[in-house]
Amino acid sequence: MADDRYFPNEMPDYIPETPHSQSPASDSLINLLHLPYKILTDRLNKAALSIKDTETWVAKGNRVGDFSLYTGALGTALLLLKAYQVNGDKNDLAICSDIIKACDYASRGSGRVTFICGQAGVCALGAVVANHSGDDQLCRQYLTRFGEIKLPKDLPDELLYGRAGFLWACSFLNNTIGKDTISSTRMRAVVDEIMKSGRHLAKGRRPLMFEWHGKKYWGAAHGLAGIMNVLMDMDLKPNEVEHVKGTLRYMIKNRFPSGNYPSSEGSETDRLVHWCHGAPGVALTLVKAAKVFGSEEFLQAAIDAGEVVWNRGLLKRVGICHGISGNAYVFLSLYQLTGKPEFLYRAKAFTCFLHDRAQTLISAGVMHGGDRPYSLFEGIGGMAYLFLDVTEPSNARFPAYEL
Ligand SMILES: [Zn+2]
Repeated sequence: MADDRYFPNEMPDYIPETPHSQSPASDSLINLLHLPYKILTDRLNKAALSIKDTETWVAKGNRVGDFSLYTGALGTALLLLKAYQVNGDKNDLAICSDIIKACDYASRGSGRVTFICGQAGVCALGAVVANHSGDDQLCRQYLTRFGEIKLPKDLPDELLYGRAGFLWACSFLNNTIGKDTISSTRMRAVVDEIMKSGRHLAKGRRPLMFEWHGKKYWGAAHGLAGIMNVLMDMDLKPNEVEHVKGTLRYMIKNRFPSGNYPSSEGSETDRLVHWCHGAPGVALTLVKAAKVFGSEEFLQAAIDAGEVVWNRGLLKRVGICHGISGNAYVFLSLYQLTGKPEFLYRAKAFTCFLHDRAQTLISAGVMHGGDRPYSLFEGIGGMAYLFLDVTEPSNARFPAYEL
């Protein structure tokens, strides 16, 4: 049963690719789904580049108000980096680098420390892009600035504003620039803080629990799924590994009968199927758990969560955080884990739905284009990022979540 949050998914369960323009259907979406993969992704690439060119800050007078990756200029920088990685246009990398410099300036004095909303995002992405450009000196400058970021004592633990969001930036640097770019000592101190507060709030009734603004969230943005996702990249002690596994098992055991996940502890409202709250974010975390722990239980739970996303994830919103673009990544992730073509088809189906209909639905007011319409996490910037990412589906990664 559909509600007003999502479109009923009426797309076929599977459509094989057929040679170009053979027996075209009357439905443009179905036609897209029939296209050979390369022809389809060429079209998506073109659409993405057109959004990127419209969005680029150069047209906005080079000023940065909101510097964050979530809704601001750093999100545009990440889109440009992706465009460069897919198409190799050095101009994109140069503009990306300029945007990051402006973000660096705008973020001075900000108390926010995470990758998605704070200074760690600016410094980490700055270092990575400088590294891509072969500018060692600039890379070192950003790394020095990264090293100066101080985490306040009362920082929450979640991903968007908290400790996990800082740690994700550390993993990103170590993964992209090289092992030990950020020392294990620095990361261990933050892991210790997270474990301490997680055990304290769990009160022995479950392995770990956290709070953000007084609520015990479960999702990727503010809760357990996001924190567990980051912890799995850390060098954990054996008992910490058991706590992470136990927390994921606790979530699976207490999910809704529908297979969806509550947005917070004890919530009985089975409504949100977003990356930020609900099955999609949890699914990505479970895919990771299946990879890290090699365990069938997490693989099955990830597939179950993916089923919820297929049925209820065609949201009336466009973005990465709580829209169709983000939900498409669940299928890309499941495809990478299992190699099964049906998951790639599902990712393609959500992507084609956006390509075929998003602009029209947004113009008609049926679909929400985001309060920041070009932003990476809420707007069509995220859609463009997805369009570029499906070019190489084995390398696609949910931005700022999957490494
Ligand atoms: Zn959201």
